[in-house]
Amino acid sequence: MSPLTLKLSLTTRIFLGYAVVLVTFGAVSLFSVSELRRSQVEIRLVSEGYLRLSQTVAAIETFQANQAKDTERLREEQSVETRRALIRLARLYFPGLMAQKLDDAQATATRLLEFAPDSERPYVVEVVKKFGELKARFREYEEEADEVYVLLESPAPDWEKARARLDRLQQLENALSSMIRLQHGSLEARIHERVRQAQERERRTGVAIIVLPVVAIIVGLLATGLASRSLRPVRTLIEGVSRIGRGDYEAKLGIQGEDEIAVLAREFDAMARALKEREAQLKQKQQELLRAERLAAMGRVSAQVAHEVRNPLSSIGLNVEMLQEQLESASFATKEAALEAKELLAAVIREVDRVTEITEDYLRLARLPTPVLRKEEVVPLLDSVVDFASEELQRAKVTVAREWGAGELAVRADEAQLRQVFVNLVRNAREAMAEGGELKLSAHRENGTVEIAVKDSGPGMSADVQERLFEPFFTTKEGGTGLGLSLSRQIVEAHGGRIAVTSEPGHGTTFVITLPAA
Ligand code: ADP
Ligand code: MG
Repeated sequence: MSPLTLKLSLTTRIFLGYAVVLVTFGAVSLFSVSELRRSQVEIRLVSEGYLRLSQTVAAIETFQANQAKDTERLREEQSVETRRALIRLARLYFPGLMAQKLDDAQATATRLLEFAPDSERPYVVEVVKKFGELKARFREYEEEADEVYVLLESPAPDWEKARARLDRLQQLENALSSMIRLQHGSLEARIHERVRQAQERERRTGVAIIVLPVVAIIVGLLATGLASRSLRPVRTLIEGVSRIGRGDYEAKLGIQGEDEIAVLAREFDAMARALKEREAQLKQKQQELLRAERLAAMGRVSAQVAHEVRNPLSSIGLNVEMLQEQLESASFATKEAALEAKELLAAVIREVDRVTEITEDYLRLARLPTPVLRKEEVVPLLDSVVDFASEELQRAKVTVAREWGAGELAVRADEAQLRQVFVNLVRNAREAMAEGGELKLSAHRENGTVEIAVKDSGPGMSADVQERLFEPFFTTKEGGTGLGLSLSRQIVEAHGGRIAVTSEPGHGTTFVITLPAA
C-alpha cells in the first residue's frame, strides 16, 4: 500500500473509487451525446442544406439548358409566327422561374448560416455570394435577351445585326451555364466530402463507444477490488471478535494502519486485554466468595459443636465440684498424695472453665442477634461496667480515670451488646496491665457521633499484633480465646460504628469506638 492510501480513511477511499467510476461513465455519456449532436448538425447541414441546394441548382441547370436550346431555335427559325411564339414563351416563363429558383437557393444558403458549424461557415458564405453573382449575371442576360427579342419580333429582322446580338446572347448563356455547372459540381463535391467525414467520425465514435465503456468497467472493477481489499481486514476482525467471544483473549488482531478498521482492531485488542484482567479479577473474587462460604459453613458447624459441648461441659463442671467436696472427707495414704489429687482436680476445673468460656464467647459471636437500637447514655453504662469490674481492677492495682466531654453523650445502641464491648475492652486493658497501671475512660461528641476511648498504660503491642487483633481466635495469651475483639468489632459495625486502635510498644494502648449520636 502506498503512503497515500494509508492516510486516507476507508470511507474516502471507497468514495474516491466510485467517484472515478462515475466520472468515467459521465465522460462516456457526455462524449456520446456530443457526438450525437454533431452528427445531427451534420445530417441537417447535408439534408436541409447542401442536398436541397444541389437539387435547386440542378433544376436551374436544366432550365438554362432548355433556354439555350430555345435561343438556338430562334436563330434557325424562319417563320415569324413561330419566332413570336417562342419569344412569348421565353418571356413568360423563364425569367420568373429562374429568379424564383435563384432567390430560393440564396435563402436556403442564408438559413444554413444559422446552424452551420464554424468550420463550414466560410464555404456557406461563399455559396451565398455565388448565388448573388448568378443573379446579377442573369439580370444582365435578361436585358440582352430583351433587346434580341425586340429585334427578332419584327416580321423582317436585320439578320446580320440580329446574328451578332444572338452571338453575344449565347456567349452570356454559356458563361451562365458554366457558372451554374461549377456551382453544382462544387455542391456535389461538398456533399461527398461531408458524407465521407461523417462516415469517418461515425467509425471513430463507434470505436470510442465500445472502448470507453470497457475502460469504465475496468476502472469500476479496480475500484471494487480496492474497496474489497480495504475491507479485507474486516474478516480478520470478525474472526478475532468471535475468538474473544469464545474466551480466547491471547490472540491479538494486530491490524496495522490508520483507517477505521485498524483503529477498531486496536480498540478490540485493548478490550480483550481489559476483559482478560476482569476475568482474572472475577476468578479471584469467586475464590474469595467460595472461601467465605466455606468459612460460613464451618462457622455454623462449629456453633453446633459448641452448643453440643455446652451441656456435657456443665455437667462435667458440676460433677468435678461434687468430687472436690467429697475429696475433703476422703483419706489418702500420704499427705503428698492428697495434695496431688487436689491439684489435679483444680487443674481440671480450670480447664473446664476455660472451655466453657470459649464456647460461650464463640456462641455469642456466632449467634449475634440484630441489635435492638435504643437511645443509651454512654456515661452510666461505662460507670456500671467499671463498677462491675472494680474488684478485679483493685486486685490488679489498676486505677481508673474518667473524662466526659460537654453535652449529651447518648448513642443509638443495644444496651446488652454495647456493654459486652466495654466489658471486653476493660478486661483486655486489665490483662495488659499485669503489674498495675491506669485505665482511662473518656467520651465526647464529635460532629454527629460520640467517640469513646478506652486507654491503658500497659506494654502496648507490636505492629504485627495490631494487624491481626480483630481476627477470630487470634490471641497472644495463654488461655485466651481470641474472640473478645472480633466479637466487639462485629457489634460496633452492626451499630453502624467503627472501632480503631492506636498503640506503641511501651506506651500503652487506646481503643476508640465511634458511634452515631442519638
Ligand atoms: P484474648 O483477650 O482472648 O487474647 P482478644 O480478642 O480480646 O482475645 O484480644 C486479642 C489479642 O489482642 C490479645 O491476645 C492481645 O495480644 C491483644 N490485645 C488486646 N487488647 C490489648 C491491650 N489493651 N494491650 C495489649 N494487647 C492487647
Ligand atoms: Mg480479650
